[in-house]
Amino acid sequence: MSGMGRREWLESVGIFVVAGALRAPAHSAQLTTPKGADKITLDLFDFQPKSMLHVPETKVPRSRYPVIDIHTHLSSRAKSVNGVGVGEKMKFHATPETLLPVMDRKNIRTMVNLTGGSGKGLDDAVREFDQAYPDRFLTFTEPTWEHTNQPGYCNAQADELVRAHRAGARGLKVLKTLGLFLRENISEGRLVKIDDPRFDPMWETCGSLDIPVAIHVSDPEAFFLPTDRFNERFEELNNHPNWSFHGRDFPSSSELLEARNRVFARHPKTQFIVLHVGNDAENLPYVSECMDRFPNMTVELAARIGELGRQPRMSRKFFDKYQHRIIFGTDASPNGTDTPQQIFGAELYEIYYRFLETEDEYFDYAPAPVPPQGRWQIYGIGLPDAILRKVYYENAARLLKVKM
Ligand SMILES: [Zn+2]
Repeated sequence: MSGMGRREWLESVGIFVVAGALRAPAHSAQLTTPKGADKITLDLFDFQPKSMLHVPETKVPRSRYPVIDIHTHLSSRAKSVNGVGVGEKMKFHATPETLLPVMDRKNIRTMVNLTGGSGKGLDDAVREFDQAYPDRFLTFTEPTWEHTNQPGYCNAQADELVRAHRAGARGLKVLKTLGLFLRENISEGRLVKIDDPRFDPMWETCGSLDIPVAIHVSDPEAFFLPTDRFNERFEELNNHPNWSFHGRDFPSSSELLEARNRVFARHPKTQFIVLHVGNDAENLPYVSECMDRFPNMTVELAARIGELGRQPRMSRKFFDKYQHRIIFGTDASPNGTDTPQQIFGAELYEIYYRFLETEDEYFDYAPAPVPPQGRWQIYGIGLPDAILRKVYYENAARLLKVKM
């Protein structure tokens, strides 16, 4: 949140900090009745309704087939400036020994650590996970953002990818840094465009090395709208004001997605795993159109079963049609605290399995007292065995060249 303090920023979008606690003004989030002075007023924050539906509750302690979780964060760059990771030093969020017992119980054969950094940091991540427990952990490398405004960056980045691949990287991860945080002077100046030609050698090299690019572009549509009473993710944005990309110099979500599409079109030999259901799970018709236009595009599920599960019939059709190009992922981060939909643990996996395998109705998409990404519940899509196998591991194994 550069330039503006959290409080000033909140006030600029109409949220006022009262006695140290976040409360929205009455017109935007409190539940009141127009007349009837004896009616109680309840802060939205305190509303935790319990469903009275009597419907089947299926516990799915293990997935029906082994799982490759293609989207996890077991490490990350130790330093970041205004959303841009810099330097090679890494921090590790867990040791493999603390993860393996949960993986074994939940039938997770392999976790892919996308944020493996670069240079020496990547070497450390590969040693810590992949080399210690072969086949159980795979690591992706990341671009060196802080060099992107230096002469010769294009070729240096391509060369570093070749080195990273030799050092064990199984793919390239591009965070939403590109498009939303990276600027001409790294953390200042104009935002760098996703389809900026200086990245062409990087995309092309992934194609020639035959390693996939896992890419996160843009964010939920609601993050680009005002944080007001009409915003379906009001509470989430209220809890994380710096997740809002409304106003300032941010492009719209569709501009970001279209710039991304131009990259897919320019590099047809490069495989792109487009995270978070193509980053537009709210708009499956658009994601489908992109899948039809770009055969080099695969999608992944992480942190979007809340979206898929509230449109179960549309989702089920999407899985039927694109069953060869959908990959299981969770965005799991060990020891996280403020994003319950991403905290690595048994509960998280059981919710994903329940969504994919059962036809249960109206259940929580995250282990939390209040649904963290919006106040709704989800419905299972009961996938048949053949599709489950593809989504759980076959599609990922093909792209990662893993033998199962
Ligand atoms: Zn992620």
